[in-house]
Amino acid sequence: MRKLVPARPRSGQEIDGIAEDILGYFQPTAIKEPQVVKVEPIFEFGLPDFGIESDYRSLEARGIQGYTDSANRICVVSSELADDPNAAAYFRSTMAHEIGHAILHIPEFRRRRQKIISEQAKKDGILHRLPDTEIPIYRNPEWQAHRFAGGLLMPEAAVKKAIAMYRSHEILAIIFEVTPAFVRARLKGLKMLN
Ligand SMILES: [Zn+2]
Repeated sequence: MRKLVPARPRSGQEIDGIAEDILGYFQPTAIKEPQVVKVEPIFEFGLPDFGIESDYRSLEARGIQGYTDSANRICVVSSELADDPNAAAYFRSTMAHEIGHAILHIPEFRRRRQKIISEQAKKDGILHRLPDTEIPIYRNPEWQAHRFAGGLLMPEAAVKKAIAMYRSHEILAIIFEVTPAFVRARLKGLKMLN
């Protein structure tokens, strides 16, 4: 079973707000107007601005698409995925997900690790890994990163406008350049799935 370090509780709205702040800096029109969010510049230039290294690396042997390492302040996306012309939508959501971990979790986890070092061996359990079934959804770092990816690639106001214009999920997937499964998950997260 996969084990995770619980993050501090965050609501979906709080996470969407953080994603919008990032868009406000890089692509403000995307907050309200349906369009493709250019996620690579955020990864390549935005993260270094936050003091986080970002890189494309071969991850095929590890069987993963990306990872974020808070101890070393680095965010990595698979170079195989980046080079796959048939996986552009999935690549974009993977990158947005890792950006979420980098923005939400690197500063928090680094702070907590330092706190624990300063408190010596006091067993407060904060950084102990738990099976993800035992972590409440709002404290699950994977849920938080998924939610961030939704907020970054499909901001709520732009989604509402696109839904009013087109209705079709397939068209939304094209407009935002994400997978149909990503559209579904985002609409569900926004309680807009009927
Ligand atoms: Zn993740």
